[in-house]
Amino acid sequence: MIAPDDRSAPPAPADKALVLFSGGQDSATCLAWALDRFGQVETLGFDYGQRHVVELACRATIRDRLLADFPAWAGRLGPDHTLALAALGQLSETALTRDAEIALQADGLPNTFVPGRNLLFATFAAALAYRRGVKHIVLGVCETDYSGYPDCRDDTIKAMQVALNLGMQTRFVLHTPLMWLDKAATWRLAEALGGAPLVALVRDESHSCYRGDRSHRHPWGFGCGTCPACELRAKGWEGYTAPHV
Ligand code: ZN
Repeated sequence: MIAPDDRSAPPAPADKALVLFSGGQDSATCLAWALDRFGQVETLGFDYGQRHVVELACRATIRDRLLADFPAWAGRLGPDHTLALAALGQLSETALTRDAEIALQADGLPNTFVPGRNLLFATFAAALAYRRGVKHIVLGVCETDYSGYPDCRDDTIKAMQVALNLGMQTRFVLHTPLMWLDKAATWRLAEALGGAPLVALVRDESHSCYRGDRSHRHPWGFGCGTCPACELRAKGWEGYTAPHV
């Protein structure tokens, strides 16, 4: 298929990709997108003292299910990497890493914002990709639903690509297949890539809830149902499943 951010000919199937894979809906869809178009796909997760380790557990389940249920992709799924970024947790005063309520700050950004988080993620991903001989780096960032996170913007990622290529004297390509999609369109992309089985996998096994709730089941998956991440996910599912008029 033609991906939303395609600007050139598709890479040769032998090309390797590294997907920043948190275990959420967006990065799970990005992982499928990468498996659909690259010959070998490795995954990278970061452990930086999140309040909930549930995301990291979801990563393993999603990878296992992809291997078991999608034989065409199974041969392409390479190693998983986890990097500990404890310093990021130390620097954060936000609801993601402390037991604080999720709220909007005076500057309009949610207090879940970890300053510079995606810049650091991209830098560590590029350092790993360099060592692994990987050219393509896939990030699930999105400007459409970006919750005000400035490091999810298209311009930020483009600037990072330039900085990384200059600073490491190489030629990475940073892919952001979800950049201009809303959450409903992200579900449609999952359906286009892997049909109903992939939609069901992402719905049931990916995790978005800021509170780490895996006990309440909703039509859109597990979560508390009231935090901003759950509300965004529910709204996207509603848009995806609503009958077209
Ligand atoms: Zn929630």
